[in-house]
Amino acid sequence: MSTNELEGMVALVTGGSRGIGLAICRSLAGGGARVAVVGRDGQRAEEAAAALPGERHRGYACDVGDSTAVQSTVAAVEADLGPIDILVNNAGITRDNILLRMKDEEFDEVINTNLKGAFNFTRSVSRGMMKRRQGAILNVASVVGLTGNAGQANYAASKAGLLGLTKSVAKELASRGVRCNAIAPGFVNTDMTSDLTEAQVEALARLIPMGALGEPDDIAGAARFLVGPAARYITGQVLAVDGGMVM
Ligand code: NAP
Repeated sequence: MSTNELEGMVALVTGGSRGIGLAICRSLAGGGARVAVVGRDGQRAEEAAAALPGERHRGYACDVGDSTAVQSTVAAVEADLGPIDILVNNAGITRDNILLRMKDEEFDEVINTNLKGAFNFTRSVSRGMMKRRQGAILNVASVVGLTGNAGQANYAASKAGLLGLTKSVAKELASRGVRCNAIAPGFVNTDMTSDLTEAQVEALARLIPMGALGEPDDIAGAARFLVGPAARYITGQVLAVDGGMVM
């Protein structure tokens, strides 16, 4: 991969202030992109943007589930940095519970952030991308969207929904020069998995052919490839980045 294949491009990464999203921001900035880091906590997003390699990155406070806030964030990013070429829908939360105890709020919050959030941003950026006949959208799903997971009916449904969104957007926008793909990470060391006990991590590692959880940078490398010019003929695909866990 060339070292500056994203030079001159603007990338917006939701949930870019921590974990996988932050690693994706670093990777896209390393490729030459100007990055808009979006998170609920504006100060954290700004600090993350300031620490990225290169200049002209910016942080924005926005709840991805709030469609009005999403529209104004996209307008602000385009005013500050220029038209958005790359969108990474990475913001995500878990509210795990067994089915019979799962509260309405737990289901709704997860769908609203993980699935509706991606819809909100995709709808907001796609008009400009279609006009310019250029754009790459990447949705960060999960292997549990492919396999299901006990205790995560809400989360697995949101991630399976993201795969349907990915393929529909890919079909709808392909003729207008816009690609849309998804990554399905396996288990990755971030705040989201920091509550796992040592015994749980060992049990998980036994299910992973490569024998260990992934790191955020493992996801970021695949993300940079999928949104970049080397993937110009790839759309509507789901790439599992999971140490071989699901195949
Ligand atoms: P994380 O460390 O918990 O970080 C989550 C990020 O999402 C934060 O930057 C957070 O920003 C942001 N966020 C959450 N809700 C938001 C909202 N409503 N609006 C805007 N931003 C919001 O999570 P992660 O492990 O890096 O996960 C990133 C993505 O990968 C998620 O979609 C997750 O489902 C997926 N994934 C993770 C794993 C894993 O094992 N870690 C596996 C498969 C898939 P604030 O801090 O500002 O709230």
